[in-house]
Amino acid sequence: MTKASDSIKTLAAIEGILFDLDGVLYVGSRLIEGAPESVRRLRAAGYACRFITNTSTLSQNSLHGKLRELGFEVNPSEIVSAPQAARLYLERLGQPPCALLLAEDARGDFAEATTVEIEEADYIVLGDIGEAWTYDLLNRLFNRLMQGAKLIAVHRNRFWQTETGLKMDIGGFVAALEYCTGRDALVMGKPSPEFFRVAVEDMGLSPDRCAIIGDDIDTDVGGGQAAGLVGILVKTGKYRGAYAAASPVRPDWVIESVNELPGLLGALPAKTGG
Ligand SMILES: [Mg+2]
Repeated sequence: MTKASDSIKTLAAIEGILFDLDGVLYVGSRLIEGAPESVRRLRAAGYACRFITNTSTLSQNSLHGKLRELGFEVNPSEIVSAPQAARLYLERLGQPPCALLLAEDARGDFAEATTVEIEEADYIVLGDIGEAWTYDLLNRLFNRLMQGAKLIAVHRNRFWQTETGLKMDIGGFVAALEYCTGRDALVMGKPSPEFFRVAVEDMGLSPDRCAIIGDDIDTDVGGGQAAGLVGILVKTGKYRGAYAAASPVRPDWVIESVNELPGLLGALPAKTGG
């Protein structure tokens, strides 16, 4: 493990850990060997844990099922996904009328929401809708936004890797709507400060008492650091040395995998007050 940042952030103050999922605890459907035991040790040492992801295709229940199957002991309420953050945001606003453009499974998280057609919506929640994009749909969204509705983007990822190659993600559509309307979307997923705030507040902690561990130097480490957390980069998942070196983000710590985290935090004896 190496300390990569000049900024001195003490690990002794850490009481809560945000684990990025894909690339840190598993890669696709393949477990990072030893990860469930590492999470177990950190819990036993008193650390609060939340499991965070920008995934917008799976509901909280489905993510929970996946983690359980891989051997992680996790409560559904400890999972904070980007759609979850959007759901909590709408809840705080008192459930205004909203249009949900989300995968069928992720819509399951919004049972309490007041859902309406695009033309009646005050808020438009935009997530992954696969190949449902058409000019007509974009133009309906554009017109409703021009009439004053607000756009909540679950994330603004540019592209992702599939078995058949790279695919354009929703970030391009978010950018198109922002450009044409001249107004910014509220982005709920990482690296949005709002997302980290929701996850940290859910643990009842302040940001300086929390660390984020992720494989994406920009959205995980950079986003977390900007929100006041200690940023720890792992060399698993999408990590590439050359990409990390070229990034303006300087992680507080770089470790080989999540399995070095208990050692880094000195999480052997029980931690008091956690
Ligand atoms: Mg990741």
